Amino acid sequence: MSLAGKTAVITGSNSGIGLGVARELAKAGANVVLNSFTDNEEDHALAAEIAKVTGVDAKYVQADMSKADDCRRLIVAAGGCDILVNNAGIQHVAPVQEFPTAKWDAIIAINLSSAFHTIAAAVTGMRERGYGRIVNIASAHGLTASPYKSAYVAAKHGIVGLTKTIGLETAQDPITCNAVCPGYVLTPLVEAQIPDTMKEYNMSREDVIKNVMLERQPSKEFATVEQLGGTVAFLASDAAAQITGTTISVDGGWTAL
Ligand code: NAD
Repeated sequence: MSLAGKTAVITGSNSGIGLGVARELAKAGANVVLNSFTDNEEDHALAAEIAKVTGVDAKYVQADMSKADDCRRLIVAAGGCDILVNNAGIQHVAPVQEFPTAKWDAIIAINLSSAFHTIAAAVTGMRERGYGRIVNIASAHGLTASPYKSAYVAAKHGIVGLTKTIGLETAQDPITCNAVCPGYVLTPLVEAQIPDTMKEYNMSREDVIKNVMLERQPSKEFATVEQLGGTVAFLASDAAAQITGTTISVDGGWTAL
């Protein structure tokens, strides 16, 4: 299905999964609004490149997803938000007794509260325009836990709960709200965890990838940003109009274990 004429706002999309989702939605015809907290030339250049390659309108809007006002300003600046992809996220790994309070607060703000603010700002316009797709990028950690990721696992379980609630609140509107739960995807967020894990387990990069990161991913392969983008594009299509308030795992079998 063509998403021509729809506008998609993807939070945290100057890198990784968010950028992959933006590219796939643009390929499907949607105009895209890219976002992160920085305001660099390269950020705006990404939007220009997507516009050039796909022919859609694309722009970059700086907004810090740790701040409630910025989350709501992003939706206003988009000038209409038909497809909202809450993707911005950070990670911190530490045992709970050593977990810095500031990191807990930042993870809850960026990975969870930002979605509440953007959804609250977007849903009225979606109702008025008669179409809305909300896709929250959760994680396999929205359905299962791992040690040392207390804030991340709490935020991702929270986003699954928020997804169900918004699915119910919008069930009689032409709006859906779902969460996509990726397993490991090789993005800068994951890449950054490799050196510490190599030290912790005294392992080579290859062994960390196969035996630690992909230990719980039965396929033994990373999911790709294109696969995540394709899943979001499907959720935005007419075929997915009755899929709401649920999760779709893209995790190579992780949560089947
Ligand atoms: P990434 O680090 O490549 O991307 C994170 C994005 O969020 C970046 O664009 C970054 O600029 C943005 N961001 C960070 N703080 C922000 C802030 N305060 N305001 C606005 N934007 C901000 O990581 P990724 O792997 O692409 O992660 C994207 C999402 O996917 C996250 O929610 C993450 O939890 C989730 N996820 C990733 C994986 C994985 O294996 N990579 C697995 C499951 C879920």
